[in-house]
Amino acid sequence: MALERTLSIIKPDAVKKNVIGEILSRFEKAGLKIVAAKMKQLTKEEAEGFYAVHKERGFFNDLVAFMISGPVMIQALEGEGAVLKNRDLMGATNPKEAAPGTIRADFADSIDANAVHGSDSLENAANEIKYFFNDSDVVSH
Ligand code: UDP
Repeated sequence: MALERTLSIIKPDAVKKNVIGEILSRFEKAGLKIVAAKMKQLTKEEAEGFYAVHKERGFFNDLVAFMISGPVMIQALEGEGAVLKNRDLMGATNPKEAAPGTIRADFADSIDANAVHGSDSLENAANEIKYFFNDSDVVSH
């Protein structure tokens, strides 16, 4: 497996539940390193741009409203097979279908308030990291 970086967002529902630390801890315990991080209140434009691929979908406006409903914690994660590893830790998009012990099974309430975002491919990961971080914001350690 190759060393990869992926973008992770702890969404407003999980920030409100005060479980940032518990979620970050799961990444670290799985061997992923946090190589960039920031708390941020997204603007409507930032959320729309980030989810532009979904703009024709019926849930788009609700998704944007949800993503700006409170601050998010954004991090780049690095590790062997980081993209898939993070997706495995997250669990299925719909928490009702998420495997036991995954972040969404444990912390998410519904498909629209589902605790975390994670890049779904290496190519998207690179673009999503660039969307939120300058090269100099991302460190190796
Ligand atoms: N989403 C939603 N309703 C749906 C499908 C998706 O609200 O029917 C939201 C949900 O928050 C999801 C995000 O849109 O996390 C992006 O959808 P995607 O299919 O990319 O899922 P993910 O990659 O986040 O698992």
